[in-house]
Amino acid sequence: MKRLFAWLLAAVLFCLLLPVIGQAEEITYTGVVNTKSLHLRKEPNASAKVLNTYARGKEVTILENDGTWCLVQIGTKTTGYMMSQYLDIKANYEHLGWGRTPDDGTVLNLRSGAGSGASVVYKTMSGAALELVQEQGAWYRVRLEEKFGWVEKSRVTLISGDFSPGYTTDDHTEEITAARMASATRNYGSASTVSRSEGDFTYSISYPVTGITAADERIRAWTNETLKTFQDDYNEFHQGTPGASYTVEYQSLSIDSRYKSVLLFGEYRVKDWTCETLLTLNLDATTGQIIEGADLFSADPMRAMFCLDGLAAKLMSQPTDGYAAVPDASWLKYAVLGREGVQLLLPAGQYLPLGMGTRQILMRYNLIGECMGLDSESIRSNIRTIDPSQPMIALTFDDGPSDETDRILNVLAEYDARATFCVIGNKVESYAGVLKRTIAGGNEIASHTWNHRKLTTLSASGIRSQLERTNDIVAQVTGGYQIKVLRPPYGSFNKTLRSVCADMGLVIAEWEIDTLDWNNRNANKTYNNIMKGARDGVIILCHDLYKTTADAVERAIPDLVNKGFQLVTVSELLSFHKDGAQPGTVYARVDPENKITEK
Ligand code: ZN
Repeated sequence: MKRLFAWLLAAVLFCLLLPVIGQAEEITYTGVVNTKSLHLRKEPNASAKVLNTYARGKEVTILENDGTWCLVQIGTKTTGYMMSQYLDIKANYEHLGWGRTPDDGTVLNLRSGAGSGASVVYKTMSGAALELVQEQGAWYRVRLEEKFGWVEKSRVTLISGDFSPGYTTDDHTEEITAARMASATRNYGSASTVSRSEGDFTYSISYPVTGITAADERIRAWTNETLKTFQDDYNEFHQGTPGASYTVEYQSLSIDSRYKSVLLFGEYRVKDWTCETLLTLNLDATTGQIIEGADLFSADPMRAMFCLDGLAAKLMSQPTDGYAAVPDASWLKYAVLGREGVQLLLPAGQYLPLGMGTRQILMRYNLIGECMGLDSESIRSNIRTIDPSQPMIALTFDDGPSDETDRILNVLAEYDARATFCVIGNKVESYAGVLKRTIAGGNEIASHTWNHRKLTTLSASGIRSQLERTNDIVAQVTGGYQIKVLRPPYGSFNKTLRSVCADMGLVIAEWEIDTLDWNNRNANKTYNNIMKGARDGVIILCHDLYKTTADAVERAIPDLVNKGFQLVTVSELLSFHKDGAQPGTVYARVDPENKITEK
């Protein structure tokens, strides 16, 4: 049993740094004055009292840096503020690259020097990202958060590309703690708790008994293994330290008659240190089997990829470098079925800095439903449904993708709304991530030609080339997305265009309401034009090129949703046309008399 579950330990144990012996060097920053003379001020503002003035080349120690002002120290006593831009700032280490510890479940020792005889200064677990700061023979000196240590090169997998684990703000994730888990929903399995004090080390492990053998065995193995690890750690390194504890709390959910999920979360505390543990299980109660995290999602690789990319983009939308670092489906390992969506657990230090702890991101079923691979009534009922008896509107955005598109995607996602993005083919390649995110949010991508050509000036073969080239690049960057809708530039169409579109299976989407956002570049006017034009069945024209449009849409989408409008894609809208969407046909709206109003 022990060997069988050995991998589990690694997979579920995300220690913050476990300091063992001694103190490792910490990060320090120095600044060198790079201007003729620089004031040291009492407060971080340009009118604060000048304490002293220093000449170019003066070296100072930086204690804090908010980007504008640095709190600096000069000598042992003098502190004050200097403007960051007039300091050349250097850390006490060099950046050689990034690496990751192996995902094989072993504890990795970071040592005080480049040799296996050097003392262990920290331990870290599988999958942690390390910054490589120095090389010496078969060893790297690495930085892990604020700490340094040495590790064998053979234990580090290099991460290529623009990886950066930097992640400073957090809009999307919630921290998981044992205290929080203690009040989580437990509507599956019977509750059980084991508590004991062994001298100064106490533990309290709460867990559900599910009655499914595979699950109960895995829970038992996991609790035994993690507990033993901490008992050993305590006995070996912290004997006699009062107040040490290991606490496990859990959430257990019955999703429907078939699918269940369990999430156990543990915290080991000794002195100021914490080590977090995590076990996630999804169960099929009809077969008695465990469903691994990644298997919750569609086996259709294209859909799964959209899903994954969408999630990655959502999580990593602030540090764009970090987005590149989400490599594959392995990070879905800790996905657990919840009531409103899949809870994706991010173990401490694996994708986000250790200091942020273990966090979860909720992926709502109505956003990711199409990516789910389970046949669950209750999940399906959470998946997007459009009520045809209620009014619907198709917002469309032309001329992108651009740097503004992300903001529009954010507000759409927030309100479970969809829109259609009519992209210019030659912009697509540099915004591949935006396109994937667009699709993952359930939005539609339409063609707006390769380079915004007025198609009525082209021959049939000229038109075809504009459209095929755009379809091809979109399919290429998204892994196969098929465009169904053309938005011709300037709204220009003729018989030739219609027949090419009929041949290529494309409908032509015009618009009923022009927000004139391209002309007014004014958020209020654009907002007013959207709200004034809003009525059942219309297609509304906007451009995801302008900050003012994104501003307007951030106000309009919540207001439209509150007024009872369903925000749908062009294809969704046309799917309620009594004649269906006819390739080669031009649509600016679906009139209520042409609309199917019953499900
Ligand atoms: Zn256009």
